[in-house]
Amino acid sequence: MITFSLRSVLAAMLFLAGFIHAASIPVLIVDGQNNHDWKSTTPHLQKVLEQTGLFKVEVATSPAKGGDMSAFKPAFGRYRVILSNYNGEPWSKETREALVRFVREGGGFVSVHAANNAFPEWPEYNEMIGLGGWGDRNEKWGPYLRFRNGRFVPDPSPGRGGSHGSQHGFVLDTRDTEHPIMKGLPSRWMHAKDELYDRLRGPAKHVTVLASALSTRETNGSGEHEPLLMTIAFGAGRVFHTALGHNNGSDLTSQRCVGFIVTLQRGVEWAAQGKVTQKVPPDFPSAEKASLRE
Ligand code: ZN
Repeated sequence: MITFSLRSVLAAMLFLAGFIHAASIPVLIVDGQNNHDWKSTTPHLQKVLEQTGLFKVEVATSPAKGGDMSAFKPAFGRYRVILSNYNGEPWSKETREALVRFVREGGGFVSVHAANNAFPEWPEYNEMIGLGGWGDRNEKWGPYLRFRNGRFVPDPSPGRGGSHGSQHGFVLDTRDTEHPIMKGLPSRWMHAKDELYDRLRGPAKHVTVLASALSTRETNGSGEHEPLLMTIAFGAGRVFHTALGHNNGSDLTSQRCVGFIVTLQRGVEWAAQGKVTQKVPPDFPSAEKASLRE
């Protein structure tokens, strides 16, 4: 009798804990400057994250270019994951140090598309994102990651960091089928029209490449399998890096791709708690056909 009621109470508590846990992962999107239309993408990113029922999303918008950055001090510690939709002027030293501390002590960080162009002169940021592009990045920033004999290895060859060919749809190849973010996804899937970032380079430490795409010479690419979805271990923190998601003005095609959406939703959950509870939706793209949502 006592055993039974204790068990009931415990079950009720676990159920309640699961329920409370369920829509309560606090996520902060950081934006305010970007060479892409962040005013269109931030609401979209917020919407697709909240659609999972797992996340409560808030937004911190920095001053515009030339503004007083000293006033931009998001309270990172109030969130489990910081998602950067930011590519602009350096933050204050205080804010940079606060983000490093947050991730190093176990917080989650997510870099979307041009966020990996940001902050070339900030060493810890380059470590967090693993690989980055533009901002005069070159071999001094670290190696490329090149797909050789079935795995990604550092390539210190000199050359620019960051480029892309013409926009087109391309196939993503899963490179780590057992990672929680990728588990259950098809091994190959067609991504909607996007920029295929190539020649990213950086410290490339503690990087796990989850998926890559072949950047063909015909599209003015590198001719290499380019890492586009990655995780990075930074101190006790978890980083999910998606190089996908270009947008032109209000054209959100690449971010409406179900492959982009689902890997982002799963990547943010993994960054928050190291596991993924979301099921793969039936509209996930196949290797032959991209799949878009409204
Ligand atoms: Zn872009």
